[in-house]
Amino acid sequence: MNTLDLPPGLQVLERGWLSSNNILFTGGEKSLLIDSGYCTHAEQTVSLLELALGDRPLDLLLNTHLHSDHCGGNAALQAQYPDLQTWVPPGHAQQVEQWDAVALTYVPTGQLCPRFKFDQILKPGTQMRFGTCDWQIHAAAGHDPHSVVFFEPASKTLISADALWENGFGVVFPELEGDHAFAEVAATLDMIEGLAPKVVIPGHGRIFAYSPAVLTIARQRLDAFVNHPLKHARHAVKVLLKFKLLEVQRQSWDGFTQWAMATPYLMQIRARFFADAPLRPWIEQLCAELVAAGVAKREGRDLLNA
Ligand SMILES: [Zn+2]
Repeated sequence: MNTLDLPPGLQVLERGWLSSNNILFTGGEKSLLIDSGYCTHAEQTVSLLELALGDRPLDLLLNTHLHSDHCGGNAALQAQYPDLQTWVPPGHAQQVEQWDAVALTYVPTGQLCPRFKFDQILKPGTQMRFGTCDWQIHAAAGHDPHSVVFFEPASKTLISADALWENGFGVVFPELEGDHAFAEVAATLDMIEGLAPKVVIPGHGRIFAYSPAVLTIARQRLDAFVNHPLKHARHAVKVLLKFKLLEVQRQSWDGFTQWAMATPYLMQIRARFFADAPLRPWIEQLCAELVAAGVAKREGRDLLNA
């Protein structure tokens, strides 16, 4: 699968962008999975795990953070494995318990996430046995204020979620909601630099070898956003549009733009950053930019994922 050295018994199921990668540990006494993908892929997630685990059940499920593309398969896995213990970061545990799908952003973003339960809280600053190694839990605010990342010091492997990708990091959502979080992204990148990983398993995309250049790319990207917050906000809207398109795959142009105009999170971003832009042309322009970038396609009256 790759030539990068990973701790024994660790398997990365690389998924697309709609579903986060799934990281499976089968080496130890207990099988353990990090992140469960998006719900429309849940059946595939369950099949992949059955294939990897054979007759063994999945014992532990951990979420790096509670975005729908990282915990959307939780409910299906909990149904499949009745004794599964689910661990989530502390920040939104209460909202999960009460299933506040607004606070968890699933309702405002128009994303899907079936209700799941959790059993335990992941505590930053502590460590936990994954397979045959002890992994450190680190808070990694920025992309999501409550995200955690995991680090194994012997092999220097980092499970970075959306805090660090090969070419940057995920959208800085708190900034879109009026909270300053670019400094938190910078602090998280500094924290990662301090860990000095060798191998990074990101939340999306392939595993990559860490080098200082990776952080240089991320910091340049961050600087560009800090200097041009509107650019970040536009980028974020396009990411959210593309995410929906990944989910629906194909929809009429009118239906899709209508969906966007009825999606509270997108309208909040518009009100905060682009209040002067007339609504429909603004949405249509952003969709057209997805087409121009080659990540969407128009066919007759429809908009397609590409
Ligand atoms: Zn995320």
